[in-house]
Amino acid sequence: MSTSTMDIRAFTASKFSTPEKFTKFCQNNGKPLGGFVDGEQITGSMNATFETTDPGTMQVLARVCEMGDAEVDQAVRAAQRAFDGDGVRGWRDFEVEERVELVKKFIDLCDRDRDVLLACEILDGGKVSELAAGDFAQIRACAEYFIDVARKVQMGDGPSMEVGAGQRGFTYREPWGVVAGIIPWNYPIVLTAWFMFPALLSGNTILIKPAEDTPLSALYLAQLATEAGFPPGVINVLTGRGEITGQAIAEHPGVRYISFTGSPGVGQAILRTCDLHGTRMKREMGGNGSAIVLDDADPELVARLVGKHANQHFGQTCCTIHRVFVDKKIADDFIDAQKAFFQDLKIGYQADEGTQLGAVVNATQHRRILQAQKETAQRGGTPILAGGCAEVAGKNGYYLKPALYRTAPGVNCNPLEVFHTFATICPVSSAEEALQLANSTPYGLGASVWTKDVEKGIALAKQFRDGTCQVNCHNSIAYGLPYGGQGISGGPGAGVNCEETFLDYTQVKAIYVADYPG
Ligand code: NAD
Repeated sequence: MSTSTMDIRAFTASKFSTPEKFTKFCQNNGKPLGGFVDGEQITGSMNATFETTDPGTMQVLARVCEMGDAEVDQAVRAAQRAFDGDGVRGWRDFEVEERVELVKKFIDLCDRDRDVLLACEILDGGKVSELAAGDFAQIRACAEYFIDVARKVQMGDGPSMEVGAGQRGFTYREPWGVVAGIIPWNYPIVLTAWFMFPALLSGNTILIKPAEDTPLSALYLAQLATEAGFPPGVINVLTGRGEITGQAIAEHPGVRYISFTGSPGVGQAILRTCDLHGTRMKREMGGNGSAIVLDDADPELVARLVGKHANQHFGQTCCTIHRVFVDKKIADDFIDAQKAFFQDLKIGYQADEGTQLGAVVNATQHRRILQAQKETAQRGGTPILAGGCAEVAGKNGYYLKPALYRTAPGVNCNPLEVFHTFATICPVSSAEEALQLANSTPYGLGASVWTKDVEKGIALAKQFRDGTCQVNCHNSIAYGLPYGGQGISGGPGAGVNCEETFLDYTQVKAIYVADYPG
């Protein structure tokens, strides 16, 4: 099937109206939304609350309680009780099919309340509806994938082997116990699902720490989990700032395993904390995604596709294309087409029909992006579209224009993840030069190569120093294939969304058994 150049457009908003159930949930009978511990909302002993806002209007959606050391400890104890069982069967003792049944009930309830969860993504997360709907679909897709894995993986005793005279040994695979998922603000529903399902289906109980900018979906999902019948303490949500709530989770020795997604600096800091008491940690972190466009590619077609992937969630996707290396022979046409694509993006409120580029998540990001645009020019980038602030009539959000800069080999003007619809384009003389430049970064999350010669594309893709390497596509994900990073973008292990992810939520012991002496 051929794709006409004009068919390719950025993710676009349909008009979205706030569902009453979402408003009621946010109002919470006039009280701030509490954290969710042991099946109940709790307010927190610090008596601290924070506001979560719609980034497109700066309107406050809800007040949320901040959880401190005491609440983290309370949650760890509740999760441990739920794991072990408190006079009754614990979560660790549930049969796989019992866990599967609860997960299925839970995802049915998510479908029932789809509009509320979409409101969390669109209003709290600032996403356009087309992308939010795609994110919502990940709940079921992720659950079904990990249900299949859970049915396949053998927990408990592995095969026995003779290890000496009268002595045998075997492995024993078990869940860690209490695990935590620390989540960034940009994909709250997707990442909650990615952490929750493998953790729960392998028999762990979980603490979920949503980002302070987008806490609503995790809190709503916790309510649905209770309605589905998950025992109290199996799923807990701890809301608050990273340096308070997140830090308390990382410092708690009762948390056996942490899965983190976020920025490299924070991931590195959490790893150091975890090391103090031997908590295992998995890290998936930011990137500075690249695309290589070979001379046989149609410059207009590929410029539009690259533009689309540079603008996914307004460039606030971890794998986003921020660095483009295009063959000199087609560079001018490519640059013209990418400029046109960026210029045509409809900037607006994310819940208004037709919007393709909405507000960024908060004031800090807004300031950082403006600073990065300025620094790109100072480091030698030539503005094609200089970026800067944008106005949206009647909306008081954090709006910015897309930015595109031309650069040259050796001009290192785009060294950091900018996290907006922002890209540098570097004309190059060969695929080898492009590859060398694309790999010249400490990040290593996502990269793509665009060419009619698919075999050549595959050969180049294998040479990227990235966890996710794509040919004629970008930002693709599939359950069964690891999604992870290399360099400062990732930690050890294969990434998320594969069988190894499920195994990460388990530990293996060696059991040796000798005949009784004598
Ligand atoms: P962040 O690192 O600032 O925060 C991530 C989470 O960590 C938040 O919940 C935050 O509250 C918490 N946190 C912050 N300081 C902490 C501390 N000292 N101890 C414990 N927890 C702490 O990231 P962000 O700004 O929320 O998200 C954007 C980043 O996430 C980008 O770099 C993006 O590329 C990355 N990201 C990566 C992936 C991936 O799969 N690799 C996916 C989405 C986002």
